[in-house]
Amino acid sequence: MQSDADTPTVGILVRLTLICFAVLLCWTAGTLPLRANDPTPTPAPHTWEKWLEVEEELASPALRRELLTFPRILTYIVQPGDTVSGIASRFGLDIDTIRWSNPELERNPDYLRPGTALTILPVRGVYHPVAAGDTVESIARRYGVAVEDIVNYPLNHLDSADSPLKAGTWLIVPHGTKRLARPKPAPAAGYLFAWPIVGAVTQNYSAGHRAIDIGAPYGSQVYASRAGVVVHAGWSETGYGYTLIIDHGDGYRTLYSHLKGTWVSKGQKVACGQLIGEVGSTGNSSGPHVHFEIRLNNARLNPLEYLPPQ
Ligand SMILES: [Zn+2]
Repeated sequence: MQSDADTPTVGILVRLTLICFAVLLCWTAGTLPLRANDPTPTPAPHTWEKWLEVEEELASPALRRELLTFPRILTYIVQPGDTVSGIASRFGLDIDTIRWSNPELERNPDYLRPGTALTILPVRGVYHPVAAGDTVESIARRYGVAVEDIVNYPLNHLDSADSPLKAGTWLIVPHGTKRLARPKPAPAAGYLFAWPIVGAVTQNYSAGHRAIDIGAPYGSQVYASRAGVVVHAGWSETGYGYTLIIDHGDGYRTLYSHLKGTWVSKGQKVACGQLIGEVGSTGNSSGPHVHFEIRLNNARLNPLEYLPPQ
């Protein structure tokens, strides 16, 4: 969900500006930040020794067409001003594919620094480092795809589902997804509020921090702590990043911050335990967590006094 100010026109203008900025930078540097594996001889997907400079505009339609016929894994060098979503859309991918093929980025989305080399898959999905004991079947099951999807993908160089896999090599899992199998917090009798997410409290309530921080992996689901109406959904200018505020109708409000994104919009009614967002690290945040506040008539209370024992 976008904030109210993010009209489509503004979004397009911002994206265009970013792309122009990146292209301009490349010209100034005299080289494009895009490289591709040498297609001849076909390299194993995990080798990066041979590079082919691509003398074309960033992920141009011509390059995209070529990649459809001769898929290759590209390395993209992060440029100043780049965003993960901008890089993803430039290559026709989604944010998750970029994260699921760059372990550093998955662990810490703030890792995107100019000069960092990013792995760009030719298809949406997951780039899986083979571990001892992995089989094509176990990998397919893990990412929710068919065995044939992995075997038939040309860059995987597999003859059959029984082909032995070598630990330390990488496989492309086309259209695979990583689902976070995490428990959903349950509301408890006698308590007005439920935990928005199961996780350890990484920062407690204090005079300087009238909230609790709940640590959880990036992308974990965040749930409404109590039924109510969303009164704010979007980017906060005060360091909170993507933030949701739910009004519970009796003076109480709950606030959820540093989200990766929000699944509900302003004015929407939500039930207790309804999925409202995903854990991120947006705004002034040192790592993936939810900054959670319970407010009564705008006084910020200690949430631990209102939540059931975890
Ligand atoms: Zn906090």
